Formats: sequence, C-alpha cells, structure tokens
Amino acid sequence: MKKTAIFPGSFDPFTKGHQDIVLRGLNLFDEIIIALGHNSQKTRYFELNSMLDHIRKAFENNPSIKVITYNELTASLAKKHNANFLLRGLRNTTDFEYENSIAEINKHLNPDLESVFLITSPDYAYIRSSIVREVHLYGGDISDYLPYAL
Ligand code: ADP
Repeated sequence: MKKTAIFPGSFDPFTKGHQDIVLRGLNLFDEIIIALGHNSQKTRYFELNSMLDHIRKAFENNPSIKVITYNELTASLAKKHNANFLLRGLRNTTDFEYENSIAEINKHLNPDLESVFLITSPDYAYIRSSIVREVHLYGGDISDYLPYAL
C-alpha cells in the first residue's frame, strides 16, 4: 500500500527547517502532502497563495511532494487524501508537550492516523517562523532561513 503522509503547519513562512523534515520524510513515505492550514480568525504575515507558490517551486522537481492549503480538521484532511501518517518536526521539549496532545486528539478523531515525529537537524533547530517574521518586519535579511527566494 502506498504510504502517504500529511505535513501540516502554518508555514508562515516555510523555512529550511520545514524543508529538512520533508526531505527526510521522503525516506519513510512514498508521498508527502505539505498542507498549509489557514484559519479566517488568524491573520497571516506572508500571504497564503504566495507562500503556496514558493513552496511548490521549492519542490517542483519532486513529484512525490504535493502542496495544498486547507481549512478543516487535519484528521479529516488526512482521511480525504487516504493519508495514514501525520509528519511533524520536534525541536525541543516545548514542541514535545504541544505535539503530544495534538497527536492524542488526532488519534481520537481518526484512529487510522499515526503521527510520526522527526527530530530536527541541529543545523536548523534554531529556526522559528515567528522569529523569521520579526526579522523580516524590521527589514532584516531572511534569505538564509528560506529554501526559496522571496
Ligand atoms: P504549527 O503552527 O502547526 O506549529 P509550523 O509551521 O510552526 O506550524 O510548524 C509545522 C511543523 O514543523 C511542526 O511540526 C513544527 O514542530 C515543525 N518545525 C517548525 N520549525 C522547524 C524547524 N526549524 N525545524 C524542523 N521542524 C520545524
């Protein structure tokens, strides 16, 4: 059976840390669907459709990677795409606490869904989307953190 994983996130913006998780995930899964969540209650810093284009471009040579946007429960999205795995990255214990409860809830919502965590590579563990946004807001150069040119 084809192994499909969803890699869900806000990706505001998608960073080299996220890219690293996706590329390493390809050793485990046949297909990875990067799913940009959007929520009408939350305003993004980087516009959704332009981020979608940037991520698609970053992976354009890789047919095993799809990039989509979504606005529903991740557990339902996974069902719709016949994905039995949720891929997430773990940087530190704060991520662990948060991810642990999301994984439990997702399992409850969709018992076929297994969450799989990859420990972040030390080279990228310091990259946080929130800090990248802050640097960009004040005019700093963020190109070193992104796998595409803005
Ligand atoms: P969310 O809002 O769902 O936490 P993010 O876009 O911040 O979405 O992150 C999506 C996933 O990527 C999460 O599993 C997060 O732990 C992981 N992640 C975030 N930053 C990094 C990084 N620098 N290296 C590896 N994984 C990361």
